[in-house]
Amino acid sequence: MTHDFKPEDKRLQESMTSIGNGYMGMRGFFEEDYSGDSLSGLYLGGVWYPDKTRVGWWKNGYPEYFGKVVNAVNFIKMNIKINGEKIDLAKDTFSDFNLDLDMKKSLLTRSFTVTKGEAKVAVTFERFVSVAQQELSVQRLTLKNVGSSKVAIVVDSAIDADVKNEDANYDERFWEVVSTDQQADRGSVMAETTPNPFGTPRFTSAMGMRHVTDLKNVKVDQPSDKEVVNEFAGELGPNESTQLEKRVIVVTSRDYDSNEALTKAMDTLSDQVAAQSYDQLFDAHAKIWEDRWNKSDIQIDGDIEAQQGIRFNLFQLFSTYYGEDSRLNIGPKGFTGEKYGGATYWDTEAFAVPVYLGITDPKVTRNLLMYRYKQLDGAYHNAKQQGLKGALFPMVTFDGIECHNEWEITFEEIHRNGDIAFAIYNYTRYTGDDSYVLHEGSKVLTEISRFWADRVHFSQRKQQYMIHGVTGPDEYENNVDNNWYTNILAQWTLKYTLAILKQVSPEQAKKLNVSDDEKKQWQDIVDRMYLPYDKDLNIFVQHDGFLDKDLKPVSEIPADQLPINQHWSWDKILRSPYIKQGDVLQGIWDFIDDFTPEQKKSNFDFYEKFTVHESSLSPAIYSVLAADLGYEEKAVELYERTARLDLDNYNNDTVDGLHITAMTGGWIAVVQGFAGMRVRDGKLHYAPFLPKKWDHYSFRQVFRDHLIEVDVDKDGAHFKLVSGEPITIDVAGKDVKLAK
Ligand code: BGC
Repeated sequence: MTHDFKPEDKRLQESMTSIGNGYMGMRGFFEEDYSGDSLSGLYLGGVWYPDKTRVGWWKNGYPEYFGKVVNAVNFIKMNIKINGEKIDLAKDTFSDFNLDLDMKKSLLTRSFTVTKGEAKVAVTFERFVSVAQQELSVQRLTLKNVGSSKVAIVVDSAIDADVKNEDANYDERFWEVVSTDQQADRGSVMAETTPNPFGTPRFTSAMGMRHVTDLKNVKVDQPSDKEVVNEFAGELGPNESTQLEKRVIVVTSRDYDSNEALTKAMDTLSDQVAAQSYDQLFDAHAKIWEDRWNKSDIQIDGDIEAQQGIRFNLFQLFSTYYGEDSRLNIGPKGFTGEKYGGATYWDTEAFAVPVYLGITDPKVTRNLLMYRYKQLDGAYHNAKQQGLKGALFPMVTFDGIECHNEWEITFEEIHRNGDIAFAIYNYTRYTGDDSYVLHEGSKVLTEISRFWADRVHFSQRKQQYMIHGVTGPDEYENNVDNNWYTNILAQWTLKYTLAILKQVSPEQAKKLNVSDDEKKQWQDIVDRMYLPYDKDLNIFVQHDGFLDKDLKPVSEIPADQLPINQHWSWDKILRSPYIKQGDVLQGIWDFIDDFTPEQKKSNFDFYEKFTVHESSLSPAIYSVLAADLGYEEKAVELYERTARLDLDNYNNDTVDGLHITAMTGGWIAVVQGFAGMRVRDGKLHYAPFLPKKWDHYSFRQVFRDHLIEVDVDKDGAHFKLVSGEPITIDVAGKDVKLAK
């Protein structure tokens, strides 16, 4: 909650007060027109537009378009006139500003008292997007006359298709209005994304609004061919108040195959919703949120900021994705901004999958895996674009086809293929459910393996397989040879795929059609993959040239030059030894049980001092490794950095939207780091410690059919089985049986 309103921080505030329900979401922009600076972002999951690529010099293989989530038709718009004058907080005098995001129930409330001449009116807006009825957005406006004279009130509730994407490459608008319907007290707009030359689908969305109010409905003309308005008017004597509820149903062509079907669905759902009161609609929504928190809440005592950080992260993650729809995914900014275009990145498999596994039912994560399976055709296309066999999953996508337009990422950041394979293993190991890996998963693994087998080359000199010309997770270096992380993931994928091929049914094996020659070749690559290693330092080397760099630690960079990506030329960054985000250490985190404590220590000690964590995805991974090594202070410092990244605007870029995929970091750091949670051979292991700054922390974790509560305080760690059959877990090397 905040009482502050600073116009210069408006975008920041909008990002932080974003809400969503997986199907749609919005920044906390104002309902009423605001003439100051703002990003009125409202987005519908999976509704995107292929914006023509903009690059200086075209290179063969570049994707022709960059997919962007379309800033949706604005259906929350509500303007208020007091004695004939429109409220605009950029110009008006107002007091008692209050902005409150209720994360328990997902409700955004904003209130203020505005003065217009003699008139003084207290205004409260509430809004939620229902998780009980995903197509439903509900707003409630309360107006109270707190002045001493009578005031005339007019509320214009609208749906406005005159919106644009700030990040459009050529300043084009992405919506065309198909039809509007403006009746006195209700209205609707149907709009379709503009035609595109790339053969990607156009999307149509239809939104219909209805109202509940005591104010008098006034028939007005449609203001433009892009906007419909319903007007309500009344008078308020001193101390009198009134309310107006706006309910909007939003349906899209993702779910309905004709405009008629869209209109019908919109009307039917609007009728259903009309039969319920505001409280009924809100209670149904709040109950589902309660259930989500029940499974996943983390409590931290003794550090209020740490507590707020982690809850905010889980709240925003759930608002972005809760696995209902396997055609959707988790964009790095979710529904909170336009940067990264709302598309799917490797972030999902590398950072979100481990968390969703622990806080939701397995089907949620399974849907994330299905998403990639369904996009195999796009992945074949991407590999073909590079003249390679098999499947190359994209770095950035909506439909499986790569749409990132920087060559060093599109062509080179191919470790993503390994991360997608690893997520299949992670799911299977965690849930014990092998139905995915033995069916759809084996197909994905096979095609990824075919890609790796074609992408490696054999060095005659070293008699080993190598991968040249890549970008590792550390994007502060491009076109490097033998990135350890990429090489080890490629090797691991081939090994895992060969193991899975032995387990699939004969029918599935037939479908996969992997020849003996292929298997032999894959095994040879596994046996002879080159993994750069330095014996003297006992470290895995990030890539062939890394140790010849000018190896000065981050501590030698003057503070006023940090973050380096906002102060240094790109060329200087590329030549420097500074690591944007975990690279070798990302791999050590993935395979944490495969390394000795000495290996983990020497690699952590070496790489940590060069890491600037200028990707929000980075600190959590280092926090887990620090905790594993007993570096408590470091682990806590990095936890704080990850958990409050947006709340404290650490990287100075939260104005663009929240770092949704990095919101997984707080959970990863607490559960895998402080509590030392691992799954080994189907068994849960913990090795908890309590950070000195904290009095207590607890979390709930879903593991197979069990819900387990872990409580760590000054007396030690306590475990409780909240639901499910008895289970034996391992706590610091000892078996502990949990039963209800
Ligand atoms: C990171 C990538 C990440 C992307 C989206 C970049 O800054 O370096 O690893 O995929 O952000 O979150």
